[in-house]
Amino acid sequence: MTMGPAPAQIMSQGRSLVFIGLGANLGDLTQTLSQALARLAALPETRLQAVSGIYRSAPVEADGPDYLNAVACLETALAPLDLLDHLQSLELAHGRARPFFNAPRTLDLDLLLYGEQQLQTERLTVPHPRLQQRAFVLLPLLELAPDLAVPGLGSLQRFLPAVADQAIARLDAALSTA
Ligand code: ADP
Ligand code: MG
Repeated sequence: MTMGPAPAQIMSQGRSLVFIGLGANLGDLTQTLSQALARLAALPETRLQAVSGIYRSAPVEADGPDYLNAVACLETALAPLDLLDHLQSLELAHGRARPFFNAPRTLDLDLLLYGEQQLQTERLTVPHPRLQQRAFVLLPLLELAPDLAVPGLGSLQRFLPAVADQAIARLDAALSTA
């Protein structure tokens, strides 16, 4: 029996294409996001493939200063929960505390998509359950992959009208891992 090749866009040699949402609204936002990006790029068995522009938006269902957000695309051999462990360590390393729901945070790292996998465990739901409701996720995600289709949701483009009322601006600045 022969097995057909895995779809090139989601797997190569046991690696999966994953998208991570980065957000920050306390401290030096651009510096925090750049450092986080560098640390994502340095994760074991992982390569940084692309990063979106930086987007500024007001907090959703919360008070506090504006957020800066971006999305990074990684190719990784880390399993989903191992990747989540790394994301949460990076959040902690940036001094994130969770005093209350939707509290301002120095760094928020969300696992938006892990290849075409659908997972629902206590710690991890993939695709991220709210990704299609948030302009600050949709816009950077579609910037990286305009034709992206998501398991359970289909084409992401069709969710754009529903977030058109969310105030968001793409900055001129770009993130770097330097
Ligand atoms: P949000 O990012 O939705 O505003 P939090 O970052 O505070 O909220 O949520 C963190 C919790 O969400 C963690 O306990 C984590 O285990 C859980 N979680 C479930 N699915 C995901 C995911 N896809 N990415 C990141 N965290 C997730
Ligand atoms: Mg989060």
